[in-house]
Amino acid sequence: MSDMNEIQLVFDKVNTVLDSHTTLLDAYKELEPLVLSLFDAQRMSIFQRRRQHQDLVARFKTGKETLEIKVPISPLSIAGYVALSQRPLVISDPYDKEELAAIHPRLRFADKFDKSNDFRTRNILCIPILHADVMMGVMQIINKNHGVFTERDLKIAQKLNDILGKKFRYELGGTQNPFDLLLHENLISEKALNELQESSSDMRQLVQRLMSEYRINEDKLGTSLSIHFQVPFISFDPEKYHLYHSESRLNASYLKRNFVAVIADAHDNPIVLMAEPNNASLLMEIESALGIDSYDIAVGLPNHVLQYLGDSVGGSGPGEMSEILDEIGTSVEESDESTDELSDDAPAVVRLVSRILHDAKRLNASDIHVDPEKSGPTRVRMRIDGICRDITQVPASHHSAVIARIKIMSHLNIAEKRVPQDGKLAFKMAGQLVEVRVATIPTVAGEGVVMRILASGGAMPIEKMNVAPTNMIRLEEMIKKPHGILLVVGPTGSGKTTTLHALLGYLNTPEKKIWTAEDPVEITQPGLQQVQVSPKIGFTFANALRAFLRADPDIILIGEMRDKETAHAGIEASLTGHMVLSTLHTNSAPETITRLLDLGLDPVNFSDACVGILAQRLIRTLCSDCKEKYQASDTDIAFIKRQYGEAYLDELNLPESLELYRAKGCDACGDTGYRGRTGVHELLGMTPELRSLVYKEASVEAMKGQAMQDGMRTLVQDAIYKVIKGDTDIAQVQIVSGD
Ligand SMILES: [Zn+2]
Repeated sequence: MSDMNEIQLVFDKVNTVLDSHTTLLDAYKELEPLVLSLFDAQRMSIFQRRRQHQDLVARFKTGKETLEIKVPISPLSIAGYVALSQRPLVISDPYDKEELAAIHPRLRFADKFDKSNDFRTRNILCIPILHADVMMGVMQIINKNHGVFTERDLKIAQKLNDILGKKFRYELGGTQNPFDLLLHENLISEKALNELQESSSDMRQLVQRLMSEYRINEDKLGTSLSIHFQVPFISFDPEKYHLYHSESRLNASYLKRNFVAVIADAHDNPIVLMAEPNNASLLMEIESALGIDSYDIAVGLPNHVLQYLGDSVGGSGPGEMSEILDEIGTSVEESDESTDELSDDAPAVVRLVSRILHDAKRLNASDIHVDPEKSGPTRVRMRIDGICRDITQVPASHHSAVIARIKIMSHLNIAEKRVPQDGKLAFKMAGQLVEVRVATIPTVAGEGVVMRILASGGAMPIEKMNVAPTNMIRLEEMIKKPHGILLVVGPTGSGKTTTLHALLGYLNTPEKKIWTAEDPVEITQPGLQQVQVSPKIGFTFANALRAFLRADPDIILIGEMRDKETAHAGIEASLTGHMVLSTLHTNSAPETITRLLDLGLDPVNFSDACVGILAQRLIRTLCSDCKEKYQASDTDIAFIKRQYGEAYLDELNLPESLELYRAKGCDACGDTGYRGRTGVHELLGMTPELRSLVYKEASVEAMKGQAMQDGMRTLVQDAIYKVIKGDTDIAQVQIVSGD
């Protein structure tokens, strides 16, 4: 149908047909050909909402019989999903599972009609029928005869649905305004109601004032809302209804703010109780958080909703882990009396997640692992000083609630459980903001979560880095140079970022302009201009570096030299008069040179630019409360001599009788004997002799030999030095040396 006048003519006919029949069912036979001609389509179905049952029903007359198709308002069917989301939908192929999954993971096409009627549904246009923002039903138009449904069809459908919405309103007894019943019964004047609506900040205040200023009782208000929103009214009745058990998946303050509670009747059938049940996006979020297929929707007065949520409780904290776990085992609704600076009357799972985060920060953990198990409880482990430890267990029944809570906190899609997601969350502890990077990973046993606690606060002072005095003198000389490039290298988790920021902290003075490009920005320092790069959107380290060069820098930090482009740009920047700091994933300082030359960097440019390379590792330090002094054995001394090298042994000044320390274990260190970590370093300086070897692209061995003559000591040598100093034990050296 092309002509606008022609379309208007059909609309007029539709109106006439609807006016001349009392119900839609009676009008259906005459209505159908008109609607199909509007869209040039094969079939239509119109679903009406039923007020006392949260579903949709389509009625057809075949001869004398009336057929009914009932569909719940849920994402499990196309009509149900459109009713839930209140948004129109065009499906280009209902048999394409991927197309449906992209709309909602649980969306399905019911092919029963197709099968029993030897029909093939090719495409669908599905539109919600709304009146006064309340969902009244859904219209489906199936199989366009020529081509596909267009924007224009969508517009025509929306116009048609305005007409249908009015018809439905009369048929279903819907009202224009939630409080029309009060006007109708002369309980308040229209003018007074308008004034009240305009001067009330939210639904809760409006309802309170209707009750206090106009003496309207709760039941009357409820009936008025029920007629308008086309759902049953439920008042606060704790004998009959209780909070639904998976309530805990939803953030309590979120629910309160939106006046929504998920309650259940004596048979544990879930009911979503809302003060404004026409809020489709809220309903969609609740629906996906609950992850259940069937539930009812009801309207409640705002303060009743809050009563179900247990609004009377206040000011309790996350509580002890054991208490929360006990509580999970019994009931979620009990309140406890623990005090903490955090949170409110959140359900147990919310407090459990909060407790896990607090413990992680208190124990100085770097990562938290929430690992689902195929059978048995979920393990919660934390990486502390580089080692994973079992911290607690969560009953398997609460696994998905815990994951959902973490996802809500990190603004991830709760419904999406099949693909990994990345997000961030932040919480406050002792007034300090703690940032956490969150990664979800689907496993065969369920969805797992790994959280990394980002180092917060400022930089570590350079003196705390535990750099050996000879290395410190050389390092300071290198970074004080007006230009050049200094690389900090090592595997992931070797403390490179901490070191770079300690160096920047040392260099950070008002007369220096410092730019940093990092991914992510973990440590912040006043005076630095820090930039978060985002390779996903094409803002790379190389882009940032080019931007910095136009911004008058003295010192530039590039988070990582991931590729040739970045390495090349970094060297160019240092050759044009800037101090550049960066990192690389290489194992040793000399190896870094060959890696960069292999990338295709010019050996002359690189060796001219480079001032030094600092390789580093983290080793665990002995617990200062319980470390135990002992007389070094012959084996220990032989190990030290072999690892440090006979040629260098003199500089250690080993005494006649050497005393070392070993791990013991006490309460302070969780019986491990270790507490905290420290760096071991290998500092290569670019001397003229070494430079000539780089020009020649000499072997790693040759460059290492020269670097050691110039004063470099290996990671293992530095670790030995720290054993003798009493920081750590021989076992930790073996980890560095791989022996
Ligand atoms: Zn100890």
